[in-house]
Amino acid sequence: MKLYDIIIIGGGPIGLNCALEAEKAGLTYLIIEKGTIVNSLYHYPLYMTFFSTADKLEIADIPFISTAPKPGRREALEYYQGISRHRKVNINLYEEVLKVTKEDDFLVETSKNKYLAKKVIIATGFYDIPNLMKVKGEDLPKVKHYYTEPYPYANQKVAVIGSSNSAVDAALETYRKGAEVTMIFRHAEISKSVKYWVKPDIENRINEGSIKAYYNSEVVEIIPNLIIIKDEHQNIVEIENDFVLAMTGYLPNFEFLKNSGIELQGEHLNPFYNENTMETNVPGLYLAGVVCGGKDTHLWFIENSRVHAELIIKDILNKI
Ligand SMILES: Cc1cc2nc3c(=O)[nH]c(=O)nc-3n(C[C@H](O)[C@H](O)[C@H](O)COP(=O)(O)OP(=O)(O)OC[C@H]3O[C@@H](n4cnc5c(N)ncnc54)[C@H](O)[C@@H]3O)c2cc1C
Repeated sequence: MKLYDIIIIGGGPIGLNCALEAEKAGLTYLIIEKGTIVNSLYHYPLYMTFFSTADKLEIADIPFISTAPKPGRREALEYYQGISRHRKVNINLYEEVLKVTKEDDFLVETSKNKYLAKKVIIATGFYDIPNLMKVKGEDLPKVKHYYTEPYPYANQKVAVIGSSNSAVDAALETYRKGAEVTMIFRHAEISKSVKYWVKPDIENRINEGSIKAYYNSEVVEIIPNLIIIKDEHQNIVEIENDFVLAMTGYLPNFEFLKNSGIELQGEHLNPFYNENTMETNVPGLYLAGVVCGGKDTHLWFIENSRVHAELIIKDILNKI
């Protein structure tokens, strides 16, 4: 079995960045990705716009040329997949890593094969596991944890749960395609992190009554024709409903991290790593990208986790 210097798990923007940094350092590497190249971005809402400007999404000093200051999903797919193609990134696709075991080296077991590596970087992101509301009826087919585009929701009664960018984008898009939209917020206001050019739009639509909003409210139960909530006065309110867009966030795969030997700390299950090297408590096993935040998925994004690749490869070069 070939022994790689590094196996990178996850071919998102940060996994790709790690690969390019490894190549620059003359190290052998393989990315193993369970979907397509930048699989999370591929599954984003079709018409989403990044909150970052194009330059903040660049990796390996390769310019990201965009027609708008803030690129959308399609441009980002072109950028990252284009890099992978042109730089001939060594990546296995549609192959899921199931287990990482530290022996003398690392044994990486996947859905298709087994591999050996001196070091492993986990860059698996957080977009695969929805943060469930854990209410009765959440498994009904009308409840969606991923939102793609507004057209299926024309003329439908849509409840959007959540107050972050994903929820606000879904509410505005579906409202503008003829849905009757009700937003249900756990907190007293819309998240401060909502894109600054979108926030006035949603606030004005709510204030004028085009989109109905329940603040300080929670979902109690979902049934085929209703969503039942507890409002800010603790009253039970039944709302007629065809679809629920549960934009309640996503979580890293904690089981995978734990089974790889990584310590998860505190109630937010923050994985342990050295901030200077990104090495975890398992020597030779590194974390990169947004997976580092545990349940605090807002902590890391492409902009501020691009540096992880350089920190990791520097540490590996010191130790290999
Ligand atoms: C809607 C949305 C908008 C965002 N906008 C911005 C923005 O404007 N600016 C910004 O900086 N950030 C933004 N983010 C955050 C950040 O861009 C993304 O989370 C980004 O994709 C993180 O990159 P990553 O490489 O760490 O993880 P990901 O891109 O999630 O990559 C992880 C990869 O690992 C793969 N994988 C997972 N488990 C396995 C396994 N067991 N085996 C093999 N492969 C596996 C996944 O398929 C995926 O391709 C946004 C996030 C979302 C959801």
